[in-house]
Amino acid sequence: EELHNELRQQALRDPLTGLYNRRYLADALERELARVTREKKPLSIIIMDIDRFKRINDTYGHQTGDQFLKMIANLIAGHSRTSDIACRYGGEEFLLVLPGTSIKTAAFRAEELRIQCNNIRIPYENKNLKVTMSLGVASHPEHGNEAYDIVLKADKALYQSKQQGRNRVSVWSETLAFNGHGTGK
Ligand code: GH3
Ligand code: MG
Ligand code: MG
Repeated sequence: EELHNELRQQALRDPLTGLYNRRYLADALERELARVTREKKPLSIIIMDIDRFKRINDTYGHQTGDQFLKMIANLIAGHSRTSDIACRYGGEEFLLVLPGTSIKTAAFRAEELRIQCNNIRIPYENKNLKVTMSLGVASHPEHGNEAYDIVLKADKALYQSKQQGRNRVSVWSETLAFNGHGTGK
């Protein structure tokens, strides 16, 4: 029984960071959206992507990159409430589902995460390395009712943050729909 539970947990989690993986996210987001819709509550999504992370890997090595990934994952997990779902969404991308949280509060929390990320230091030889991240926010019901829609809009808002110079938070707005399309790159 215990082993079975442990194996199931492992299948849902990213081994490096301990956050939920993308497979878990898909189910959990559908479930949470159904619930908040029933309860007429908001739900927000924050997508985060580390800025110029390839350069960290190329300059200081993959292990140093991994240290940053773990520290940022800990930051996100520590910042989350029990009802939140923190997930490693891609290589250096994280997604946070905030059931019951409005756009405004989500934007505030995204900004807190951005600043806390700026404060992380990883020692390397005689240096203290730091990174920044770009974030995008989108919410139910304002920006959509379908998981796919809300995630896509959060991702496009993230793309705007990158375009505007990185190390910033953007909230989806319908005007972004006409300003080009992004994949978070
Ligand atoms: P941008 O600001 O546009 O996001 O630039 P970027 O360099 O962060 O973006 P890009 O997508 O070009 O590079 C992402 C890098 O993330 C490339 C890859 O080496 C690194 N990466 C992905 N997964 C891991 C991982 O598990 N560990 C480490 N150390 N690096 C990873
Ligand atoms: Mg990326
Ligand atoms: Mg990146």
